[in-house]
Amino acid sequence: MEYNVIIVRFGELSTKGKNRKDFIFKLAKSITRNLLGINKTYTLDVRHDHIYINLLINSNEFDYTPLLKISGINGISLAYKKEIYDLDDIVDTSLKLIKEENGTTFKIRAKRNDKSFPYISDEINRAVASKILKNTSLKVDVHNPDILLSIEIHLEGTYFYTKTLKGMGGYPLGSTGRILMMLSGGIDSPVATYLLMKRGVEVSCIHFSSPPYTNQGVIIKLQDLLSKLNIYQPKINLYIVPFTKIQEKIYEVSKEGYPITIMRRMMYRLASKLANRLHINALATGESIGQVASQTLESLKAINEVTNLPIIRPLATYDKVDIINISKDIDTYEISIRPYEDCCTIFTNKNPKTKPKIEDCLEIEKLYDFEELLNEAIDNIELKIIEDKTTIF
Ligand code: ATP
Ligand code: MG
Repeated sequence: MEYNVIIVRFGELSTKGKNRKDFIFKLAKSITRNLLGINKTYTLDVRHDHIYINLLINSNEFDYTPLLKISGINGISLAYKKEIYDLDDIVDTSLKLIKEENGTTFKIRAKRNDKSFPYISDEINRAVASKILKNTSLKVDVHNPDILLSIEIHLEGTYFYTKTLKGMGGYPLGSTGRILMMLSGGIDSPVATYLLMKRGVEVSCIHFSSPPYTNQGVIIKLQDLLSKLNIYQPKINLYIVPFTKIQEKIYEVSKEGYPITIMRRMMYRLASKLANRLHINALATGESIGQVASQTLESLKAINEVTNLPIIRPLATYDKVDIINISKDIDTYEISIRPYEDCCTIFTNKNPKTKPKIEDCLEIEKLYDFEELLNEAIDNIELKIIEDKTTIF
């Protein structure tokens, strides 16, 4: 079916009461940004319940796929809009449109958005269906039709559609606050970053870098990963923290089994310090319960103890295969599996404790004045901004 309007549906937005206006404005902004450079010939009609994208060109020249990568969009319907307000005309148009569809069974779902239209939905359904039954070989199937023709009657015209596509869901970008994400070069943390963005969170990233043990390839890898996520968030700040001295000290003073736990406590401390400076109120990681020794609940408790910021772990309950599937969908997988030296893999650690004790951590951390090293690292942070300049406006 040829369409001339795309109806954008909001989904969860409806639960957000008075923030609604702000949300819809943010969504309209995301739409304009994502369509920029690809589709220039449309107008936006922003309403309280839907956003309508009116095409000024033929639908087969219009690429709607960027809309499916906008958080806050629950779905889109590809609709044919006609300025009619008359039952006979609606019936005739429905017949013409349904003849263009493939299938042997159909169902009509009419809706009067404008209640002053003189016929109720049921009467419209029946009028349209009987015309189709008389003039085609199609049969009605109310449970599992091949063709579901929706008809929405508004004062300004009637919308007909058979095709609705699922969107990303979640909330519009930047509408649910800011988070500092701990980004490594692995598979998990970019997926966690994506899930936060999908939820409408504006994400900044922090990475702990240990040159010369880790090389510049890691930073390039991170930039490439974040470039893939620019479609969801056009500007991403990446803070790179020099971690070498801290890490060397940890391995010097730590007893067997503890370096990883202490290292992760230092990471959380650094992330918390940076978050405070940036007025960001929550941290996030790609941790998943039980995935490795440092991600048992006992380990998470020992690590978490150093901060009072909420730690969001979008992947906490995900299986690795599901994480990998998402990373393939968002196109980060191939970048994530590039070989690289992570600061965690460099300093090999025999028998990492799966049940570290907080008292033992505190004991080890007393052996050196880490606070000074932590502050020095924070003062020497490097900021890289990863942005998609073609979509910034
Ligand atoms: P990933 O695939 O994200 O690297 P992982 O399964 O390898 O995760 P770990 O290396 O134990 O798990 O790290 C767990 C989480 O800690 C990561 O998802 C990330 O959020 C954070 N993290 C680990 N290393 C770093 C680093 N060098 N810089 C910033 N964050 C890190
Ligand atoms: Mg890792």
